[in-house]
Formats: sequence, structure tokens, C-alpha cells
Amino acid sequence: MRVTTDYYAVLGVERNASLDEIKRAFRNRARQTHPDSNPGDPQAEHRFRQLAEAYEVLSHPEKRARYDRGDTVDLGDLFGNMGGFEDLIRSVFGDAGPFGTGQRTGPPPGSDVLVAVEVDLAGAAFGEVTEVGFRGDVRCEVCNGEGTAEGTSRVTCGTCDGVGQVRTARRSFLGTMMSVQPCPTCHGEGSLVTDPCRRCQGGGRYQDTHKVRVEIPAGITSGTRLRMTGAGEAGSRGARNGDLFVEVTVTEDDRFQRRGPDIFYTVQIGVAEAALGYRIDVPLLDGGTESLDLPPGTQPGERFRLDGHGTAILGRRGRGDLIVVVEVRVPSDLDEDQAEALRAFAELIGENPAEPARRRFLGR
Ligand SMILES: [Zn+2]
Ligand SMILES: [Zn+2]
Repeated sequence: MRVTTDYYAVLGVERNASLDEIKRAFRNRARQTHPDSNPGDPQAEHRFRQLAEAYEVLSHPEKRARYDRGDTVDLGDLFGNMGGFEDLIRSVFGDAGPFGTGQRTGPPPGSDVLVAVEVDLAGAAFGEVTEVGFRGDVRCEVCNGEGTAEGTSRVTCGTCDGVGQVRTARRSFLGTMMSVQPCPTCHGEGSLVTDPCRRCQGGGRYQDTHKVRVEIPAGITSGTRLRMTGAGEAGSRGARNGDLFVEVTVTEDDRFQRRGPDIFYTVQIGVAEAALGYRIDVPLLDGGTESLDLPPGTQPGERFRLDGHGTAILGRRGRGDLIVVVEVRVPSDLDEDQAEALRAFAELIGENPAEPARRRFLGR
């Protein structure tokens, strides 16, 4: 037959594509185009058929050469009754077909678990060890997860002969299409329990409280999710456990504000203290205090840095800084004597404060 379809375009490959590239392109497109992937799409079988045709021709050097020259190409029994199409699919995907894994499904793994944990700023700064608890499947210690009563063992599933999968054939005008599903009898496990363990009723696991020790790393920030591989729920019969995800919230601190690895501490001092200098005790994250001398002439908003007193930096050495921010409190409720003294002081330094409100003096 003479072919008018552009097989290279159908496969999405260049005209000089190698056999490997053609095979790869076919594998990818066959999965997307397969009628099983496109239920209800009447065009799917046609597209899939075209794809198979393109592959059949371009994967055979002599057919490809004829096609390239514009000669007629023999598609052989590709869509006939001899199973040519099925052979083609099997040659590319193996016995399991385009969607099979080609291997036993095996017992299902355990579920992942997410728990929330709160730490305070010091805990986040230096790391801490905590314990989280949750309910979920644990491996049965009586049967060691096998699900079988003592002295018995599992028997091979008769439905799938221990493979864990069953193949079903579907007739279509393309020929027979195979698909592979987990075995419904053994749920993909390949074997069955005839005499179940009494502790777990044959499941190999049962619900219980998990207690997991969690190390919160130093320098962690709020909202971080830690993943603990295998610390989630138990898998059935030796299948892997789920993972435990620990979402860490760092609680607000009423003394410090955190910005990255730096923490900010705001202190209020008086006007005279700012002008004449003042010693303050700065609280530290790890407890205790450090005294800091604010020099004479300290300005509102001025910052002082205590190196290395911030939080640890996640995954790195060193720590951030503790930054002291000074606020200067201007007195707002001076009595007469205080106001008088301040006026005298203002005169000395050449300031011109507003005249006292006479009524206020008279009123008292
Ligand atoms: Zn058991
Ligand atoms: Zn089975």
C-alpha cells in the first residue's frame, strides 16, 4: 500500500531519528494514546492505530527505506487476525503491556502521617528533642507482620498463581488488547492467609499509638516540614512503612522578634538615660542576661548588636546576632518641679520650649 501519512510527525521524531529514538517516542506516545487512557474518545483507537502503523514501518529498516523513497510499504499482518498488533505491543512493552509494571504489586506500603509540633523560639534557635504521638497501624509483633497464626504460613494465591496480577484480554478491531490489574483475590500480594494471627486478624498490623522521637534541628523556621522516612504507619507484610512528616510551628516570643537568624530586642529608656548613657541588661535566648552600656547621646531608634546571640543557622555553623533597638521615652506627665527643672535645662542648652499653660498653674 502507498502511504500518505507523515509517520515521522505521528511519532514526533526527526526524519533522521535513530531506532532508539523511534522506540522511545513510540513508548511515550503509546501510553498517552492508548484507548484505555482515553475512555470515551472515539478517535483514540484511530490515533493509536496510526501510531502503531508508524512504528511498524519506521522500526524496520527496509520498510522505512521504502517509505522514505515513497514506495509502497507492506504492513504485513499488523491489523489482521494473526496477532501482529499484539506482538508489536509486546515487543515494545513486554508481557505486562503499556500500563503494567511487569512485576508483582506486592503488599501495600504504610500510609504517610502528618503531625504538627510547636516549639518556642529557644527550641528553634538551638534545636530540641521532642516526642510526637499519633494513632495508626503498627507492625504486629506476634506474627512479625506476616498475618499468619503461629506455626502456619501463607499459601500461594490460586487466582494469580502468586504473581499478584491478572491479565485481562479485550477484543477490539485492533486485535486483542491486554491489560494488567492487581489480583482481586489477594489484592496484589500473591499469597493468602488461611489461618490468621489472632492479634492482627491476619492483617499483619493493627491500630495503636505511635510514639516517635523527633529531633528539631537548630535554626529551624516556622512552617518547615521535617520528613522522617519510615516513621509513618506500618506497611502490611514487610512492605515499607509510610513516612512521618512533622510540621514545625515556632511560637511567637514576647521579648524577641526574629528575622532570619537575627533576633531583635526593643528596650525603652528615658531621655536623661539616653543623653547621659545607661547600662541595660539584655535577656538572652539561652537564659541569663548580658549587660550592655548604651553610650551618652544614644539616639531613638539606634541599634546595638550583640554578635552571635541570635539563633543557629539551619545546616550551617555560626549564629545570627541579637540586635538591641533603643526607644527613648519622652515624659508626658511632668509635675511642676520636673517641668521647672527641664525648663532650666532647656535654657542652658538654648532650647525654646512653649510657655507653660498659665491656666494649668493657676488651676492647681
Ligand atoms: Zn499478627
Ligand atoms: Zn492473587
